[in-house]
Amino acid sequence: MKDIKKVGSIGLKTVVYYMCTTAFAITFGLIGGNLFKGLFPVVTTTDLAYETSSKMSIMDTIVNIFPSNFLAPIAESNMLQVIVMALLLGFAIILIGDEKNQGIVKACNRLNDVFMKCMEMILKLSPIGVFCLLCPVVASNGAVIIGSLAMVLLTAYVCYIVHGLVVYSIAVKTVGGTSPVKFFKEMLPAIMFAFSSASSVGTLPINMECVEKVGAKKEISSFVLPLGATINMDGTAIYQGVCAIFIASCYGINLTFSQMITIILTATLASIGTAGVPGAGMVMLAMVLTSVGLPVDGIALVAGIDRIFDMGRTVVNITGDASCCVVVTNLERKRDIRKAKKMQ
Ligand code: ASP
Repeated sequence: MKDIKKVGSIGLKTVVYYMCTTAFAITFGLIGGNLFKGLFPVVTTTDLAYETSSKMSIMDTIVNIFPSNFLAPIAESNMLQVIVMALLLGFAIILIGDEKNQGIVKACNRLNDVFMKCMEMILKLSPIGVFCLLCPVVASNGAVIIGSLAMVLLTAYVCYIVHGLVVYSIAVKTVGGTSPVKFFKEMLPAIMFAFSSASSVGTLPINMECVEKVGAKKEISSFVLPLGATINMDGTAIYQGVCAIFIASCYGINLTFSQMITIILTATLASIGTAGVPGAGMVMLAMVLTSVGLPVDGIALVAGIDRIFDMGRTVVNITGDASCCVVVTNLERKRDIRKAKKMQ
């Protein structure tokens, strides 16, 4: 993200907008999940019996974000601490300067390629794993579990739609100075492409065309959209909130307030690390579940229908990026006008 330094004020506005809307999104996901929770069943099979980890206060949660050393978080799979370390390391790499950091940047990228390859190989086996995990659950709970999957899908889609219509319409209208009706009308081709491809990165070229029709400047969209396709995943954050509540409820666990705060923090940070490709959000869900001591096996319950979740969340992801373009374009225009007035 070294460009952020160069682009200065655009970069700062973009990152602040992305972080705030993602935090809103995950909050919507948690509220939606809690509202519909009564309709999710408690799964009775012993395969899903699980002990909740010890409860922590909000203060503990905040203090716990910072690791006492660099290795413990990796050894203990403490995901929030791993993300904080990664951010710290990333900033330090930027700050030592382009000349010195070339080697480590290349090494990080190559390591990333290697781990992605490992993940790809593991994911190839996932249909068999999901089948084996899900079979006893369906056998002991019958059709009720299938019905509850429909409920969790419905919950996620209601949250996607509410977030998309409420947050982006308000942002585009009040800060972006654009009519939400025009915004959504021009965005329709990108929305349709995102829905069918489930890939933010794949939708990038068509998203660029659409935001220009809404009035965003090319110099802004060519920075904001690629960055958004990499770090801004509001739909993914909603999905993670809803699924965390669903999986907890299947295990008969009630999440505490501080656990929900941890989910908001982890999912907001996890969205930075989610790649804009199909299925990436489900991999990151493991991280969110681990951060509050929920069993990762629970992902098997939703893995079978992940593509349907993914289509909706990708639409929200790319619409969020586009709304940011409109907002930043308007703010930069106002800034230019103010500057011009001062010069006179
Ligand atoms: N498919 C999503 C995207 O490309 C990422 C995800 O799986 O949540 O934006």
